[in-house]
Amino acid sequence: MPTEDLKIHVQEVMSVLEGRVDNISADDVEAELQRFLEYGVPLAQAKQTVIKKHGGLSFSNGSSALLKRTLIGDLGMDQRSVKIVAKIVSLNPKEILVKGQPRQIYYGLLRDESGTVPFTSWNELDVGKGDIVEVANAYTREWQGTIQLNLGDRTHVEKKDESVLPKEAFEPKKCVIKDLHSNMGTVDIITVILDIEKKEVEVGGEKKTVFSGVLGDETGKTPFTAWMDFKLKKGDTIHIVGGSIRSWKGVPQISFDENATVEKAEKKINPKDVPVRRLMMYEAVEHPGLYDVEVAGDVIEIQTGSGLIMRCPECNRMLFNNECRTHGVVEGQVDIRLRCSIDDGTGSVSAIFDRGLSEQLLGKTLDECKNMNPTDLSDMILKEVFAHQFCLRGNSLRDRFGITFLVQEVTEKDVDVKAEAQLLSKDLEVME
Ligand SMILES: [Zn+2]
Repeated sequence: MPTEDLKIHVQEVMSVLEGRVDNISADDVEAELQRFLEYGVPLAQAKQTVIKKHGGLSFSNGSSALLKRTLIGDLGMDQRSVKIVAKIVSLNPKEILVKGQPRQIYYGLLRDESGTVPFTSWNELDVGKGDIVEVANAYTREWQGTIQLNLGDRTHVEKKDESVLPKEAFEPKKCVIKDLHSNMGTVDIITVILDIEKKEVEVGGEKKTVFSGVLGDETGKTPFTAWMDFKLKKGDTIHIVGGSIRSWKGVPQISFDENATVEKAEKKINPKDVPVRRLMMYEAVEHPGLYDVEVAGDVIEIQTGSGLIMRCPECNRMLFNNECRTHGVVEGQVDIRLRCSIDDGTGSVSAIFDRGLSEQLLGKTLDECKNMNPTDLSDMILKEVFAHQFCLRGNSLRDRFGITFLVQEVTEKDVDVKAEAQLLSKDLEVME
């Protein structure tokens, strides 16, 4: 076989082995394939043998029959050679610049019985919205805390019959708030409206009225956005069928529009029964993002960027050497904040305390801190914060650097312990 032809097969073998097998080069694979062919082994069998020999799991030669199907709900970050069977929920072209050259790509949403995943295709697809497809040899990437499926040059897309997916793949999923995650597709859920406000937003140059706020059930809370006026009121218990889940920095939220039905539920949820979930740190670390939860732990590190900082007067971002990423060199405004690593023995998060919370923890105002000399200020931060135990309430956000806990409320742990003890003695009195 001419070397050029063999190279295509070498690439195919490499596409299976890459990411699974270390220290293997295309030259090694080529040499091995060449040797099998010289012995008279048929090409397909030679390729399979090389893959097996190196511990590759299976091989896709385009028909992808040997590649095992993965459910969208089971997709992880940075997976290679993925095969899924799903419905194309949406598909749109998009022009991007690659090395200064315009290039047409396609993006959309795929859905199977386990959930949905956004995808990007670098090539034109000969399938369309609504089609059921088998996608083989795709790979996953993380983008702003959510998994994305990428369809590249080695990806094979084939149209399938609707019957290959079970009926549930097309129905909203019954769930409760703590089960919400960004790639679960549309949901069927009963919640109480804890907060709602009307907002004007601009979508594609058009003004739109939306209603956003917070929903709750017996398992937790979640933000929501309603894209039309469903006449919702604070305190109403509503049944949403067909709401979709969006996520921002890993925090899932429910979004619903004219494609969803929203009705007053027969069952009533009392807002008082909506808990603030208390989590161990490892749970917060493992979760993509959480809204209004509690964690507690010890401050094991005061991180850089704590204390007095300068902010851009235009966009409020932190300045580095008096320079804003967007607005260049500006006259900064002094602010104070704390960024601490907090650990409970099972894991740690990086927690951010804004000015109000920092002033609370330090027992000093920003102006008082400004008048201190820098050494005294950092000594005071160490004394008042380092190694203290705090109970934090807030939102846990994920980006590519990890988890940031944006604190909304903080209490010293020992105060909390006393309160817990009082509660306990009350319980005991009741029991007596
Ligand atoms: Zn700025």
